[in-house]
Amino acid sequence: EVYMLKGTEVMATASVGVVAYPEDGECAENLLKNAEVAMYEAKKQGKNTVAFYTRELNIQVEKRLSMETRLHKALSRGEFSLNYQPQVCLKTGLIIGMEALLRWTTDTDGPVSPAQFIPILEETGLIMEVGEWVLHNACCQCAEWERNGLSGLRVSVNISALQFMRSDLDVTVRNVLQLSGLDPQKLCLELTESMIMIDSSRTMQKLESLTQLGITLSLDDFGTGYSSLEYLGRLPIRELKIDQSFVRRMANTKNDAAVVNTIIAMGHGLGMELVAEGVENKEQLGYLYGEKCGVVQGFLFSKPLPANDFAGFCRGWIPEAVFNMMK
Ligand code: C2E
Ligand code: MG
Ligand code: MG
Repeated sequence: EVYMLKGTEVMATASVGVVAYPEDGECAENLLKNAEVAMYEAKKQGKNTVAFYTRELNIQVEKRLSMETRLHKALSRGEFSLNYQPQVCLKTGLIIGMEALLRWTTDTDGPVSPAQFIPILEETGLIMEVGEWVLHNACCQCAEWERNGLSGLRVSVNISALQFMRSDLDVTVRNVLQLSGLDPQKLCLELTESMIMIDSSRTMQKLESLTQLGITLSLDDFGTGYSSLEYLGRLPIRELKIDQSFVRRMANTKNDAAVVNTIIAMGHGLGMELVAEGVENKEQLGYLYGEKCGVVQGFLFSKPLPANDFAGFCRGWIPEAVFNMMK
């Protein structure tokens, strides 16, 4: 519906939550509460619609609330940890670095999937604090490995949009580098398309100030967003991570193979390093090798591992194994 308010056109849509008495509540208070839950469901379904209350809905809302409450305490309770997944260079077969991936383990539910808890960390703003914890721990771990003979490795850390938007990420990174003693060249930040494709001088400034610290910037899940290629070429980004959805479908469909080839060609044209994620089998590896993709990451080599297991994995790694895999 369009309304006129003091000469301005205002669009309003209605999202309606429906409850039935007495099934959905014995008193007005409960009925209203449940109607509200149903209304939020209507909004979630794309607004301007009607949703009926179900018990299942309330269970979902309660689950989400309880997760939120537990996430608030997770950091102080030491429930977060980092796993590391190796990245393999296809020119030398060497492990050149690892992606740090956040894990949350509670004593009641065991490990919770990042797909479940990371969106909640973002919505509540907790990602600011937790993200800094991730950055600090990943850098300290990498610096420690460097000192203890597992040297030459680079660590990649995922940065959420909120962390990037709040203006002091460069200050945080500089402090973390100083505290951990990590060589800036050994740190890579993984950003996503949506957060940097806002063509503003502020975005450019932020990217520049991060690059000036001597670290590397990478674009995660590349190909799933709407990057302007012309703009991409002007950004100080040195690496593209080809999204695993393309890698997965590349062997089956010609179109996906073409997308991968194009991303690689474009990345090379812009002087960028290419990293393929989600490499699970020899066929994918062989194909990416043939297309001159520089770095690969995926279950074919290793799942993300706790720090100690990762160190063991690296010590047992034989570079030639990668090329033997393709035979
Ligand atoms: P991402 O950054 O794209 O990370 C890659 C995801 O793919 C990881 O999932 C990894 O375990 C998974 N993966 C790696 N190799 C394979 C493979 O061969 N096959 C398949 N099917 N999957 C593979 P994970 O650890 O569940 O993380 C999911 C997402 O959560 C990450 O996607 C990232 O966006 C986010 N995330 C994880 N840790 C952090 C963090 O510390 N901070 C922020 N802001 N986001 C994080
Ligand atoms: Mg990533
Ligand atoms: Mg990714």
